[in-house]
Amino acid sequence: MTVHSDVLIVGAGPVGVLNALGLARQGVSVRLLEAEPAIVQSPRAMVYHWSVLEGLERLGVMEEALRTGFAKQDYTYLVYATGERIDYSLDVLEGRVRYPFNLHLGQHQLAEIALRQLAELGVPVHFGTRLTGLTQDDSSVTVTAQTPEGEATFSAGWVIGTDGARSAVREAVGLTFDGMTWDERFVATNIRYDFEAHGYGRSTMQVDPTYGAIIAKIDDSGLWRCTYCEDRSLPEESVPDRMPEIFQKLLPGGGEFELVQYSPYRMHQRAASSMRAGRVLLAGDAAHATNPTGGLGLTSGLFDTYVLYDALAAVVTGRAGDEVLDRYADVRRRMFVDVASPMASENKRFVYHSTDPVRLEADLERLRLMVKDERLQVERFMGTKKLETPPLV
Ligand SMILES: Cc1cc2nc3c(=O)[nH]c(=O)nc-3n(C[C@H](O)[C@H](O)[C@H](O)COP(=O)(O)OP(=O)(O)OC[C@H]3O[C@@H](n4cnc5c(N)ncnc54)[C@H](O)[C@@H]3O)c2cc1C
Repeated sequence: MTVHSDVLIVGAGPVGVLNALGLARQGVSVRLLEAEPAIVQSPRAMVYHWSVLEGLERLGVMEEALRTGFAKQDYTYLVYATGERIDYSLDVLEGRVRYPFNLHLGQHQLAEIALRQLAELGVPVHFGTRLTGLTQDDSSVTVTAQTPEGEATFSAGWVIGTDGARSAVREAVGLTFDGMTWDERFVATNIRYDFEAHGYGRSTMQVDPTYGAIIAKIDDSGLWRCTYCEDRSLPEESVPDRMPEIFQKLLPGGGEFELVQYSPYRMHQRAASSMRAGRVLLAGDAAHATNPTGGLGLTSGLFDTYVLYDALAAVVTGRAGDEVLDRYADVRRRMFVDVASPMASENKRFVYHSTDPVRLEADLERLRLMVKDERLQVERFMGTKKLETPPLV
C-alpha cells in the first residue's frame, strides 16, 4: 500500500523537523521519514546565533528552546601561545535586535522540541525508515524505504531531502556534491572540566596551530563542548587513545577530564549542484556542508528552512507558482557558496591554522580594535544576519 501526503520530508534532523513544523502549521499534509530509531544524539550544533532566533520564534519553538538551553552574550578569543584574551559581548545588540544573545542548546534537543509539537499536530513521523529509492514524474514523487517491517512505498506531491551531508535523496535525483574535503578530522567531545575556574568565557575560540579548539559551555552540570582537530590520516579507531595526551596540553591547567561523549567528523566545504530537481528540494546539510568553526552549518540550514516551508506551503495551497522554488534553490545555494562557506573557511584558518606570525598579529590587532569600538562590534555581529534570505512569497 502506498501512503500519500502533500509533502514528504526525508531525514528528521533539525532541518527536517522544523520544515515539517512550518508546513504543518500552514495546514499542509506532511510526513517525515527518519532512518534511525530516534533523533540522532551525536554531539554537533549547540550554538545558535542571535540572528536565527526570530525564526525559531515564528515556528513556535523559541520559548521551550530557551527554557531547555541558555542565553549567552560573552565570547573570548584566547591565544594559546601567549595567554592573551580578547573578550567581547553581544550586549551591544541590546535595543537593536529582538534577541541580543546566542542560544546554547544541543541540536538533538531542538529537534526533540519540534518533534513533540509535530506529535500534537498529528504529523506522522516514521522512525527506522531509510529511503532506498526515489522516482518522480510531472505530478508526484514516489519513495521506497526500508522499514523494520520490510519495504514500504510513499508518494507525495513534493519531497524535501533533509537527510544530511551523505544525502540519499540528492544522489537519487542525480545531483552532485561539489567542493572539497579538508585534510583534518574534527573531534567533537562533550567533557566535564572546570573551564570557568580557569577564567574561560562560555564560548572560547582557542587560537593555535596545534592546540586550537572551540570550547563552549553546554549546561550548568559542568558539561562543555571541546572541539579540536587532528590529521585525518591518523587511525579513527584510536581517537580516544590520543585524547589524554592532547587534552593534557590543550586544556587549561592540564587537569583530569571526564569524557562523556565524542565523535570524529570529516569536514567539507561542499554544495549540491542544485537545491531543486523537479519536485524534489534539498535543505540543510543535504544541500551544503561546511566545517563547523563559527557555527554556520545549521545556521545556513535554518535560514533555508525559514524561506522554504513558506514558499512550498504557498505552492501546495495554490498561492504561488512553482517558480518560487527555483528562486529558493538559486538564492540559498548562492548564499552558501558565496558567503557562508568562505566565512567558515576563514574562521577555521584563524582558529586552527594561524601559522604565520605576521598574519596572526594583524588578525589579532583587528579584534583588539573591534572590542574597543561599538560600531565595529555591531558590524561584526551582523555578519550572520547576512546569511538570511527575506521571505520569497
Ligand atoms: C562538531 C560539530 C559541531 C557543530 N556545531 C554547529 C553549531 O554550533 N552551529 C551550527 O549552526 N552548526 C553546527 N554544526 C553543523 C550542524 O551540525 C549541521 O549543519 C546540522 O546537523 C544539519 O542539520 P540537518 O538536519 O540538515 O542534517 P542532519 O542533522 O545530518 O540530519 C539528517 C538526518 O537524516 C537522516 N537520514 C540520513 N539518511 C537517511 C535516509 N536514507 N533515509 C531517512 N533518513 C536519513 C539521519 O539519520 C539524520 O537524522 C556542527 C557540526 C559538527 C560536526
